[in-house]
Amino acid sequence: MSRIIAVSNQKGGVGKTTSTLNIGAALSELGKKVLFVDLDPQGGLTVSCGFEPDSLPKTVYNAMMRGLDAKEVMLATKFGPDLLPANIDLSLAEMDLIGTVSRERRLGIVLKEVRDEYDFILIDCQPTLGLLTLNALAVADEMLIPVACEYLALRGVKALLKMYGKVRLQLNSKLRIVGILPTMYDERTKHSKEVLEEIKATFNGKIPVFDIVIKRTIRFAEAAQAGESIMTYAKGVDGASAYRKLAELLASQA
Ligand code: ADP
Ligand code: MG
Repeated sequence: MSRIIAVSNQKGGVGKTTSTLNIGAALSELGKKVLFVDLDPQGGLTVSCGFEPDSLPKTVYNAMMRGLDAKEVMLATKFGPDLLPANIDLSLAEMDLIGTVSRERRLGIVLKEVRDEYDFILIDCQPTLGLLTLNALAVADEMLIPVACEYLALRGVKALLKMYGKVRLQLNSKLRIVGILPTMYDERTKHSKEVLEEIKATFNGKIPVFDIVIKRTIRFAEAAQAGESIMTYAKGVDGASAYRKLAELLASQA
């Protein structure tokens, strides 16, 4: 049985897509079978995996809304994981879903057929708390929340946690938070340190915050542009060992 992890934060630019990609690539290095689900109509994960979203005739949208099997939509990536890709079609799903029976369960229905074939399914959520994100949280076992160590980092997290509470009550009582992942950490600035302290203090004892911190480095953007994971593009940087450690931690949990 796979573990389904939704990588979620409705703030954009906090490292959701980067974390999904690199955790998945690192889990693959450990020999785990991984499925990526791009649930963002922007298709950031799809692009990062080397595909041109708008040229894809079939995406996760067709599986969720048109009843295609996941297998018919799935692509193999060079990082190891398989991918259910997304493109702008998925933005229609938000609207289409409103009038649909079991509108929060469409992704769950898609993943049901394939979930036993994977150790991990990582869902890259879009930066809103709409129906797509609700679909991710309804099927997920866990949420992983990247939070950037910068100004206003925690503002959006409160709303996300509220949604988490509601989902647990109404849709998915097994959902839990595997951890908050501090990202974009700049050790040279006092500000970054203060925000990291604030994150730890705010959630202390309530929600796990990973000891692993992802430092800010231009290498991530460069790696994305080169179509590589941080582990292959710049294996010496802290970010590469951090995502490796995180993957090892996830893989070691029962
Ligand atoms: P999100 O999916 O939350 O919108 P992304 O993962 O797309 O965020 O990251 C936003 C931008 O920041 C991308 O250009 C990415 O390459 C870059 N980035 C991600 N993680 C880091 C990091 N630790 N340090 C510096 N830049 C990063
Ligand atoms: Mg993204």
